Amino acid sequence: MANSALSGSQISLYINGQPVAGAGDECQSLNPVDGSVVANYRAATSAQLSEALDAAAAAHDAWDNVGIIGRGAILRRAAQLLDERADALTKLMTAEQGKVLADSAGEVGASVETLYYHAGCARQAIGSSYPSAHPEELVRTLRRPLGTIGVITPWNFPLQIAAWKIAPALLWGNTVVWKPSSETPAMAAAFVDILTEAGVPAGVCNLILGPGSLGGELVADARVAGVTFTGSVGVGHKIRDVVIPRGGKLQMELGGHNAAVVMPDADIDLAADSVVAGAMGSTGQKCTATRRIIAVGGVEEQLAPAIAKRVEALVVGAGSDVDAGIGPVISQRAAKEIDDAVAQAKAEGATVLARAQVPAGDAFVAPTVLQGGAELTICHEEVFGPVTTLLTADSLEAAVELANDTEFGLTASLFTSDERAVRYFLNYMDAGLVKVNAPSTGSEVHGPFGGLKNSTYPGPREQNGDAAADFFTKSKTAYLRLAPQ
Ligand code: NAD
Repeated sequence: MANSALSGSQISLYINGQPVAGAGDECQSLNPVDGSVVANYRAATSAQLSEALDAAAAAHDAWDNVGIIGRGAILRRAAQLLDERADALTKLMTAEQGKVLADSAGEVGASVETLYYHAGCARQAIGSSYPSAHPEELVRTLRRPLGTIGVITPWNFPLQIAAWKIAPALLWGNTVVWKPSSETPAMAAAFVDILTEAGVPAGVCNLILGPGSLGGELVADARVAGVTFTGSVGVGHKIRDVVIPRGGKLQMELGGHNAAVVMPDADIDLAADSVVAGAMGSTGQKCTATRRIIAVGGVEEQLAPAIAKRVEALVVGAGSDVDAGIGPVISQRAAKEIDDAVAQAKAEGATVLARAQVPAGDAFVAPTVLQGGAELTICHEEVFGPVTTLLTADSLEAAVELANDTEFGLTASLFTSDERAVRYFLNYMDAGLVKVNAPSTGSEVHGPFGGLKNSTYPGPREQNGDAAADFFTKSKTAYLRLAPQ
């Protein structure tokens, strides 16, 4: 029996291959635009989480024995199913998360590609071989699954981030217990439906719906060998403090405060298009969003009006409105937090360079560009919405120092044609993704993705094939000698 997520009405947990009603609190997922109910569900209890962990443990051996080629074939089938259902999933994502339809379609497409990519990794070489001092000995490395992986995901990319984590976890022979954000449970249920229909066996991918505290129980459980988390720094650090002391393996992608540095020789139209797309796209709810724009050597005189013209032309509206380029934020509560942060910046001395019109509605936030000094609180704290600040610097060196003046180190952009400036930026900008003449947002599904400093936790990055294998497996070095004849 399939979970009924695509109907948008009643959704379930998934335990041991079956949709199961939660036995905890009644919950709803709401459309941020009008508060209408997208999905009803009941949260999992601690006992149901424990059942899911038992099911995941019981499924290990059989899943291991499917072999990597067989597991890759199941992921490929899941990619096909996701592609076939792209329209329905796009509409569901827009209803539940609020993204405009083009962004939802882009995320579904990137998730399809992510599944195909990991399916293809099944056919890559595994491990290395080494010479031996013994003439009849082979020395080679091999990979084994970790066991059960606890997957915890945020709401801003409800499908793509789940695919980044779950596809390689499964490919490498692990079983999964997934706790998605309670803001986007219907997307999660729809994804597990597809994985199940594609042939992921009972117990191999379990879905637990509920609040953050349930995620806390998941990561604390000794049955969970590895935890992969994407979300805020605060929650990430709580998870770190639980998983590391108990000897679990941990992978985390956290917040960002990304800068775009615009040099005097930059193509102004390209820079303005890119920083506005980077700051306002997906309503600024990307970890990679451009939160600070640093204009170097007086270029702000041309850049500021170019940015203002573009921001004032943005069309904000319901994600389902085909004319809208920018949707609502995830919730009314989030909108209030963002508006409060803008008000605080103004109280601290920031001025408004540009502001887009917004329709009536409590979840809409006006895309806003502030101007001010680096001491503004908003220049250091991640405000997860369509707000960015234009700063100035006298030189590239000063701009990079300013760009690095944050606890985060996720992405950064430079706009220039000067090769020396590019080299300096690549060398000294402390960010995991450094981009030239391109927005701070966006990445390839097969490229290494991960931040530095407090944007991550030291360890393998999650999105690259080899790095995914490093996180989701344990490696052994085998010494194989022939028995005497
Ligand atoms: P969040 O940290 O509030 O929640 C993330 C997940 O953690 C949710 O599923 C939540 O239920 C769960 N959770 C909450 N408390 C927990 C606990 N104590 N133990 C275990 N799990 C717990 O983040 P969010 O609001 O969903 O997402 C926005 C944040 O995610 C932003 O900070 C953004 O920058 C970050 N993010 C980072 C990346 C990246 O790749 N670096 C990508 C997307 C989002």
